[in-house]
Amino acid sequence: MEHQVSHRLPRVLIFPLPAQGPVNSMLKLAELLALQGLHVTFLNTQFTHNRLLLHADIQARFATYPGFLFKTISDGLPDDHPRSGDTVMEVIRSINTESKSVFRHMLVSDELGSENSPSVTCIIVDGIFGGFATDIANELHIPIIHFRTLGACCIWVNLCIPKVIEGRELPIRGEEDMDRLIRNVPGTERFLRCRDLPSFCRARNLTDPDLQVFVQQTLHSPRAQAIILNTFEDLEGPIISHIRTLCPNIYSIGPLHMHLKLRLANNEASSQSSNNLFEVDRSCIAWLDAQPPKSIIYISFGSFTVMTRNQLIEFWYGLVNSNARFLWVARLDLVAGDGEEAQIPLELLEESRERGFIVGWAPQEEVLAHPAVGGFLTHSGWNSTLESIVAGVPMICWPYFADQQVNSRFVSEVWKIGIDIKDVCDRKIVEKMLNDLMVERKEEFSKAADEISRLARQSVNEGGSSYYNLDRLIEDIRLTSSGRVGSY
Ligand code: UDP
Repeated sequence: MEHQVSHRLPRVLIFPLPAQGPVNSMLKLAELLALQGLHVTFLNTQFTHNRLLLHADIQARFATYPGFLFKTISDGLPDDHPRSGDTVMEVIRSINTESKSVFRHMLVSDELGSENSPSVTCIIVDGIFGGFATDIANELHIPIIHFRTLGACCIWVNLCIPKVIEGRELPIRGEEDMDRLIRNVPGTERFLRCRDLPSFCRARNLTDPDLQVFVQQTLHSPRAQAIILNTFEDLEGPIISHIRTLCPNIYSIGPLHMHLKLRLANNEASSQSSNNLFEVDRSCIAWLDAQPPKSIIYISFGSFTVMTRNQLIEFWYGLVNSNARFLWVARLDLVAGDGEEAQIPLELLEESRERGFIVGWAPQEEVLAHPAVGGFLTHSGWNSTLESIVAGVPMICWPYFADQQVNSRFVSEVWKIGIDIKDVCDRKIVEKMLNDLMVERKEEFSKAADEISRLARQSVNEGGSSYYNLDRLIEDIRLTSSGRVGSY
């Protein structure tokens, strides 16, 4: 059955991966489109939507945009599924298999629209759902754009994985093989090692389901009319050029959080965005206010990372022994295990009471922009990386999974704005790296981070590449929605 595309107002459907980072960046994109007068439907899983209602101000904020709708869809998992930490791949797999027919039905029955814009005229979907969503979009003749919420560096590596496998560079043959350079990812031959490939490439068996999801979904990217990337040309231009050989129409419009901030600057409709799935503890801002400039190392491992108790203890000893002042985000489920096992030992807490502050979840963008923060010990999630880049804060990278292994290598070897300690969790090394970042090599890293921060800001200002690309995206959505031909 052919879907009748309405010639009334355009309506963009946005469907994110239900996790903190992707929801955050796609809500920012949604707001940027709504600011330009486009009608947007933001489709959340029921679980994510409930968390946003609890911890963020989304209802009131988006109610100010005409035609903005929130809708929900089931992720196909039972109510008591945790949907956190290590289980994110189960969520992705479930949506890819279980939500397909509901998604199609929602589009066909026009239940995602409003009176003035009843039909979806453009779909923007997280690329991880690119397979089924593109099948449906093509069947219904609705233009589809894949939003890859990862860095271009990881997208490019994913696109090359079949070649890497063909060239017999995978599977990795044990620990002694981890520093071998990879030859089949053009542009990265000089520095990308086995250990820097996305974590799923560590599977011994190449039919591993997580590896397959990551690779197969990325291979659907060239089927989309266009790709949106939350990055900017001055950061990843050479890598984006490689991706363009397979996906010619790319809108690099990041860093989205900065872009939104600038475009909202003169707009009274909405002045700040809070897209948290966790309860934010703002008490750390007053504590930071009382600290000397650039004296604090901010420590956060994002929304998924789970570490062992042993790793937690090594980080704490490293921190305590380095004498660094710190703000630590200790998510409730950061450490595997229950009760005492998952707690920071009291004697270590005591030792650092004077120098540290702990919260369950921080207002991270604000923390990174705070003058007291001089470094970031991070898991290298793409959003955290971009937020640190914009704030000009150098990083120590301890990647956990997925794209983070690639991001951290680019931070240290390409952009030279931090240190990569992947696969190591030893108190002596943590102590030394903290000392390098915050004292010994502080000048060198600060200078590099300031320069990249300047370029990031320039890209989203009028005349910058991301600014231009966002205008082009909006214009193309309008043209294709009205039945005229846009550039995609
Ligand atoms: N974040 C936050 N407060 C925290 C920790 C993280 O607001 O205490 C936000 C952070 O600003 C970022 C997102 O959560 O936008 C995490 O996304 P990222 O891609 O870095 O990592 P993920 O959680 O997806 O692994």
